[in-house]
Amino acid sequence: GLESRDVSAWFGSHKVLERVSLTMAAGEVTALIGPSGCGKSTFLRILNRMHEMVRSAQLAGEVLLDGEDIYEHGRRPAEVRRRIGMVFQRPNPFPAMSIADNVASGLKLAGIKVSKDYREHLIEDSLRQAGLWNEVSSRLGTPGGSLSGGQQQRLCIARSLAVEPDILLMDEPCSALDPTSTRRVEETIAELRGRLTIVIVTHNMQQAQRVSQSCAFFLATHDTPGRIVEAGPTEQLFTDPADQRTADYVNGRF
Ligand code: ATP
Ligand code: MG
Repeated sequence: GLESRDVSAWFGSHKVLERVSLTMAAGEVTALIGPSGCGKSTFLRILNRMHEMVRSAQLAGEVLLDGEDIYEHGRRPAEVRRRIGMVFQRPNPFPAMSIADNVASGLKLAGIKVSKDYREHLIEDSLRQAGLWNEVSSRLGTPGGSLSGGQQQRLCIARSLAVEPDILLMDEPCSALDPTSTRRVEETIAELRGRLTIVIVTHNMQQAQRVSQSCAFFLATHDTPGRIVEAGPTEQLFTDPADQRTADYVNGRF
């Protein structure tokens, strides 16, 4: 599993996360919820050192992957990102690259060399897991950009799965998708659960309840950085929250 311990983050002098401690249990789906600007995406990127690829936030605290700090001196960020994949709000396949090469592109980026046969197996298996195989098996050579938005998002999920990660981070993966594509992605999440540890950011409270077993509610105010107000079993946060602010948020009174 994955665990953050007292993670704080700053952009310059602006503190955006305050002592976020969260255990994301192996094989479970954990949903991160909370209003816009409370630091969910920042926290997600810190979980796989993705924030180092854009403008770097200053960090305090630890992120443990199976008990080992991913920020430990000498650990390679690329290896961390291979084991902890990320899917974004906007599907971002390589538009001119073929569907098959898109799926396999993560292997190359991670420096993983595989046989031609195993590469083909991974492409098919990843597309099957992402629920896309039946739709694209006859056109694997066509550009990723020729797919619909929902298909492109499932292609991005397949690309993440091809490097055989332990953890999959998803930042509002359905917010650019239609209801049918959303349902397909939720089905994929349900099937991956158990084999993979999944952390999903969502603004959709029904979705959080459908896909997650655990949930963390983040909140920031104008003068306090984002922090976890309450975390626990999803069922509990939605039916019997300990904090009034959680109750207000999950019931849409924010
Ligand atoms: P949303 O639900 O709208 O996606 P969020 O919870 O994901 O919001 P973040 O994107 O993590 O929130 O942003 C948290 C805070 O950090 C915000 O105040 C934002 O303006 C600030 N922030 C995020 N990225 C940067 C950056 N690269 N430089 C400076 N400030 C940033
Ligand atoms: Mg965000």
